Amino acid sequence: MILHGATTNAGKLREFRHAAGQLGADAFRVEALPGMKEIPAPEETGATFEENAVLKASYYSGFSKGLVFADDSGLEVDALGGEPGVESARYSGLGATAEKNNRLLLERLAGAEDRRARFVCVIALARKGEVVRTFRGTVEGEIIGEMRGGNGFGYDPLFYCPAFGCTFGEATAEMKLRVSHRGEAVRRMLDFLRSCAIA
Ligand code: IMP
Repeated sequence: MILHGATTNAGKLREFRHAAGQLGADAFRVEALPGMKEIPAPEETGATFEENAVLKASYYSGFSKGLVFADDSGLEVDALGGEPGVESARYSGLGATAEKNNRLLLERLAGAEDRRARFVCVIALARKGEVVRTFRGTVEGEIIGEMRGGNGFGYDPLFYCPAFGCTFGEATAEMKLRVSHRGEAVRRMLDFLRSCAIA
């Protein structure tokens, strides 16, 4: 079964493809939604990951006949009251990059003792504009004081995973998939698809 992913984020797409390959036992393949780059992006006006995932999946699935999924994901930092949250991609404002977002996060956390944080991923699965179901995954960790590792994307170099004793930036794709928010959300989506034979 082909699942079309509505994302222009190369890091996410790589992880979705990898997850479907590893967890789907050849039954599922993830591909970018055809024409994705030409479709104007909707404004992400939701206050929660769920709202944004639903908004994106229902919008983008209107451009396809098959199943389309979209995710909204991000980092919640306890000492910052849950920030950057749904603003994770745009944390450092106009022209935000992962590097700038990471630097801003370090600045805002300077001197903070409580470094607890979690990644959250909500996937919404939709067909022809109607959301079928949402799937949530989370992973707990800590924000360290310097960037470590060149793997992954986004905030991975700052996200220390206690289970591995290293950051997600230092972990391999296989390691990250085992514990990550995105891995958990994809696992739940594939379990659902297997259980209801929706295609
Ligand atoms: P979205 O495209 O609005 O869902 O924004 C997702 C943003 O959250 C990304 O651009 C990253 O900044 C951050 N993010 C989400 N998942 C991860 C991850 O697995 N690693 C690192 N950063 C992530």
